[in-house]
Amino acid sequence: MAVKNSDMYYAYSNNEGIKEKGEYGGVVTTIMKHLLENNVVDGIVAVKEGFDLYDAIPCLITDPEEVIKTAGSIHCGTVNLASFIYKYLDGCRDMKIAVTCKPCDAMSIRELMKKGKIIEDNVIMIGVNCGGTLPPVPTMQMIRDVYELDPSDVIKEEIAKGKLIMETAEGEKGFGIEDLEEDGMGRRENCQRCDLKIPSNADLALGNWGVIGPLAGKATFVEVFSDKGADVLNQVVEAELITVEEPIEKGIAIRDKINNFMLSASAKKKEEDYAGTSGDIIEVFKEYEDEFSKCMKCYGCREACPLCFCEDCCLEAEGPEWVPGGYTPAAPFFHLTRMVHMVDSCTNCGQCTEVCPCEIPVAKVWSTVNNKIRDVYGYIPGFDNGEPIPLTEHKPKNNWKK
Ligand code: FAD
Ligand code: SF4
Repeated sequence: MAVKNSDMYYAYSNNEGIKEKGEYGGVVTTIMKHLLENNVVDGIVAVKEGFDLYDAIPCLITDPEEVIKTAGSIHCGTVNLASFIYKYLDGCRDMKIAVTCKPCDAMSIRELMKKGKIIEDNVIMIGVNCGGTLPPVPTMQMIRDVYELDPSDVIKEEIAKGKLIMETAEGEKGFGIEDLEEDGMGRRENCQRCDLKIPSNADLALGNWGVIGPLAGKATFVEVFSDKGADVLNQVVEAELITVEEPIEKGIAIRDKINNFMLSASAKKKEEDYAGTSGDIIEVFKEYEDEFSKCMKCYGCREACPLCFCEDCCLEAEGPEWVPGGYTPAAPFFHLTRMVHMVDSCTNCGQCTEVCPCEIPVAKVWSTVNNKIRDVYGYIPGFDNGEPIPLTEHKPKNNWKK
């Protein structure tokens, strides 16, 4: 059987240990291990559990025997792996990797590839579907207050049939996700807005949606989105490392239905978030002036942003040419400079909001502005659609200054 682009399968690992530890059959982990063992890649980038399931650690693994440590889905893992690859692996200039990516990881990686900051030929993108991630600390609080459970007793969390379910040794407890989110709990607010749930911009996309029948809960759905993805999947099938089956037709329909339901919920959230900002992009900015006036210029949002990398804009905004010693930049200056350089590429990954100590809804503002840019240019960040990036044309520092 030769796997082709656009193929769909149910799949599970033939390695009992990985199958057991993996979230839905351990296929991602099996693929990663195979690629490393056979020197197809020099390393794999994934996420492993640290202290507990509220502590997700991005990691580079080069020993195939260590790959199993990354098996399983960490729903409180709000990390963005694009930053990890760009900042710590030099954009894969000198190494080949395979990376597990949620849709927002995949979008940010693609944006950085287009800007030449991550080398596309050196990266295999193993996508995982994502209905949203949960912010760790507020989630632990919610588990105590609403679920009346000890967070350390929770073995697993999942969103199923409209409920956020917490599983302990005692059984399951679930509350309606919509109600929780109306009360400010549940998924991160950027995830509630997210309009990509199946990472069709990766080489493969794996998830549990649509797996019904005898394999429900034991296998993952795999969809192939590129020739590179087809080749990788073919390798593990031919080596008999995973078992694949034709998906059940009804399962494919269910997967589409859940995806569409999630996308309409995101569209509703976007409508709410963008309401009252019908003007141009500067008017959006004005709308949030009070919020931005709280900014203490820690620059955490810039550091956390996967798409903020130039050395000659916001960084310079701190320099003595602009700001005398002992002062911080005036309120809109830093954010307006940053906006001009990144907002067309903003993937709504939410990293900025997450780190802001002043609780400014940074991601919401940039997502609103980005949406306006989408309307004008039709450019959707995070996809390899061959379109030039509308606003930003980063040039080497000295050229830019001329
Ligand atoms: P495994 O072999 O267990 O491998 C899982 C891989 O995901 C590992 O490489 C691991 O390091 C990586 N990973 C774990 N946590 C994260 C994280 N936070 N960020 C990035 N990578 C991570 N599928 C659906 O159909 N619907 C959903 O709503 C859905 N939500 C998900 C939410 C999250 C945060 C994650 C990580 C996955 C989600 N999935 C969802 C995908 C699903 O849980 C499985 O990952 C997928 O079915 C593959 O199963 P597996 O057994 O082959 O994966
Ligand atoms: Fe300002 Fe918040 Fe950004 Fe820090 S993270 S610079 S406080 S907006």
